[in-house]
Amino acid sequence: MEILINQKRIENEFAELVSVDTLSFGERHIADILTDKLKAIGFEVYEDSAGNAYGGNAGNIYGYLPGSVNGDPVLFSAHMDTVSPGIGKKTIFHDDGMITSEGDTVLGADDVSGLTEILEGIRCIKESGTAHRDVEVLFPIGEEVYLKGTDKFDFGKIKAKEAYVLDLSGDVGSAAVCAPSLISFQAEITGKASHAGFAPENGIHAVAVMSKAISRLKQGHIDEETTFNIGTIGGGTATNIVPEKCVCTGEVRSFRHDKALAQIDEMKKIFSEEAERASAEFSIDVIVHMEAYRVPENAPVTKRFFKSCETLGFDGKLVSTFGGSDNHNFMKHGISGIVLSCGMYDVHSVHEYTKTEELIKGAELVAQLILAEK
Ligand SMILES: [Zn+2]
Repeated sequence: MEILINQKRIENEFAELVSVDTLSFGERHIADILTDKLKAIGFEVYEDSAGNAYGGNAGNIYGYLPGSVNGDPVLFSAHMDTVSPGIGKKTIFHDDGMITSEGDTVLGADDVSGLTEILEGIRCIKESGTAHRDVEVLFPIGEEVYLKGTDKFDFGKIKAKEAYVLDLSGDVGSAAVCAPSLISFQAEITGKASHAGFAPENGIHAVAVMSKAISRLKQGHIDEETTFNIGTIGGGTATNIVPEKCVCTGEVRSFRHDKALAQIDEMKKIFSEEAERASAEFSIDVIVHMEAYRVPENAPVTKRFFKSCETLGFDGKLVSTFGGSDNHNFMKHGISGIVLSCGMYDVHSVHEYTKTEELIKGAELVAQLILAEK
């Protein structure tokens, strides 16, 4: 059964959703629009109160579309928030099929491409009258700030054991099956202030202590699957005072969670040694934002992806990503998910773009994933 995607409608819907300002925790407007669209397709829609925890104005949007044939329920997801500069986004359709912003904001194809492809793919199945299995959607808030929306979602609501998260750059047809742990930290050295001219010996130089510690730590790739970065550093209050405090922040990523944790331990050890040597104090706050996962190539979710690509004539390929997505939280709650490329490019920049052809292919893939047998 071939599902035909409506090009004009998918372009218009993309432009409509792009035009909505929807920075993280300001998703109210797009949440209302998506709720109406889901209801029009036939979904039962529920919004949770996840935003309240962050001072946001909207919750995660969950939709359930009962099917008429037996088969495992399937979940599709794309996040509602976009990054800055994302206020006043406009869509420009170019003759060659490229779709860009006006150049002063992101386009927001991350993740409006995903939202549009999910809506249009499901809508076209409904319109065709084709029998389908149960379909669920989850449109989270706050993905761009370390998956805050799905951190607060009640996963007891989800019936599916399989998820497709449309939130990956590149041409439709690739899927990420593994992603890293991401741990961030803020480390602080506390020394002792003293006049830098009259009595420098009475001070304990927090900036010097921290520089010694940092110089002992390898930055960048620690090994082939782990990176480490001190991203910010600051300390001291004036040119004539021995700095009492120095604070740095950074992150570690690894395809192996134990390696990420080991890198944090190594950092703690070195910072403690240098602090102790100078009689300074050392403290650190560590946040585990997400845990590494890997979905097997022969998992049902992956097999269905390959089968659908084959039916559509797409080159299906599996990749890894070194970034986070809501799929981390799906995996954590026992839902086997993969992250699909949805035709977005140069994301998180004012040069971000998509292509009409890719939006159509993405919608075709969504439809096919619903219909495909394992
Ligand atoms: Zn995204």
